[in-house]
Amino acid sequence: MVIIGGGLMGSSAAWQLANAGEDVLLLEQQDSNYEYGSSLGEARIARSLGPKNDKWSYLHNLTVEEVKVLIDFLNNKSTDQHHISDIYRTSPMTYVRHLRQLNRIEAIMHPEQQDSFQFARTPEEALAKFGMVIPDTTIVIKEYKEHTGTINPQKLIQYTHMAIRLLGQEVQYDSKVTNITRIEDGFEVTYSDKKSGDNLQVKAKKLISAAGPWTGPLLSEVASYMDTLINPQRVFLSFLRINPERYKDLNATEKAHIMDGYPLINSSRGTRMGSNFSMIEKIGSDGIPVIKIGGHFQRSNIDNLQSIWQKKLSQSEIDWSMSQVLQYLNMQRIDIDAADIELVDGYSCVYSLTRTEVPFVSYGIKTDTSPDKDLVIMAGLSGVGGKGSLAYGKMAAFLVLEDVPSDQQLRAVMDFLSLQRILNVY
Ligand SMILES: Cc1cc2nc3c(=O)[nH]c(=O)nc-3n(C[C@H](O)[C@H](O)[C@H](O)COP(=O)(O)OP(=O)(O)OC[C@H]3O[C@@H](n4cnc5c(N)ncnc54)[C@H](O)[C@@H]3O)c2cc1C
Repeated sequence: MVIIGGGLMGSSAAWQLANAGEDVLLLEQQDSNYEYGSSLGEARIARSLGPKNDKWSYLHNLTVEEVKVLIDFLNNKSTDQHHISDIYRTSPMTYVRHLRQLNRIEAIMHPEQQDSFQFARTPEEALAKFGMVIPDTTIVIKEYKEHTGTINPQKLIQYTHMAIRLLGQEVQYDSKVTNITRIEDGFEVTYSDKKSGDNLQVKAKKLISAAGPWTGPLLSEVASYMDTLINPQRVFLSFLRINPERYKDLNATEKAHIMDGYPLINSSRGTRMGSNFSMIEKIGSDGIPVIKIGGHFQRSNIDNLQSIWQKKLSQSEIDWSMSQVLQYLNMQRIDIDAADIELVDGYSCVYSLTRTEVPFVSYGIKTDTSPDKDLVIMAGLSGVGGKGSLAYGKMAAFLVLEDVPSDQQLRAVMDFLSLQRILNVY
């Protein structure tokens, strides 16, 4: 089985298949240092709280269980010890929403809710429960659960590759797939070895495409319809911190309050454009947390997928990021002003989006619209892929093995992400 793309999706699928005893070859165009792609970075929000039968909560919780399996495997097979905290940073998840979204509280208060949470519907409640000062148009929800917080994509990719190799299977870097041809018994995949410049070919009985934003051009010969179903989008990210002079004057309670205040989904303005996500990306070498902020509705179309990564942030994007972080830190009663926040870094990132914003983990389709069971496509993971990553890989493995999971909920999610959705827009 050949898997194209060593981001979160391809790596997860390749690990699940290798762990099921299959022969796999994972081809990634970058070297082992993952430097671009939707999975770039050290943190993605991982959260569980949701309404009844929420599929995203299910995918997150399944991924937590699958990360445990991966860590156990690594600890049994190697002398180095690994821990789930290498992958997850547990921290309360904060949702600051506009009063118009009060129904979100009702939705999570269903009788089968197992996740622990608290909420504040008024400024008085927010101050008493969370020490926050909020406008009276705002509500706050906080989710508390082990492994809710952030998931580290870079570490997870590194660990899956390590595990695949420990199983005697192959991960090949610097291997860019340039052509896929259908042959009688599967596919012939041509890839260029970036170091030697050689063009190599491999025959694959089954193929998984997990090429993120590059899916359309990659599949032009074997699933040309994907190009119109996937829309790569630029999402800018700013990395900010409180400047060292001001940070050192904060007391321990204020510093703890900052750490516990992230990750955050902030839609307090009540508009899609005004909403943002932010999280602690890492702690700098000087001990100051680096806050990453972006907005899923600040995204924009892309002219050139190759050069977009170098596109610098505009001043208005930086200003937007700074004002959003300042507003939230002030809500947290951290007494700072605009001059106390500095930009550490910023870059353009890309993810791929489907029309409904729900990803595809699906068989391809033949011209007669029957499923092409030799080809599995993982695409359009947009802003939801991180927290569910190992679960998506598990689903792709079930599809490619033409197997059906015994877990009814997993079957339901697989149906939800599957062929029928491609057919609906085909
Ligand atoms: C800014 C941003 C914020 C996000 N926030 C969150 C969040 O808070 N929570 C969450 O759950 N999710 C979040 N996500 C979503 C999550 O990060 C993505 O859904 C996930 O990383 C997608 O992984 P992927 O493997 O599909 O894509 P990618 O990581 O892009 O992987 C595709 C891989 O394919 C390789 N490739 C492409 N073409 C070829 C070829 N021809 N030959 C060989 N290799 C090839 C690429 O080099 C790349 O490594 C966010 C995403 C972004 C961009």
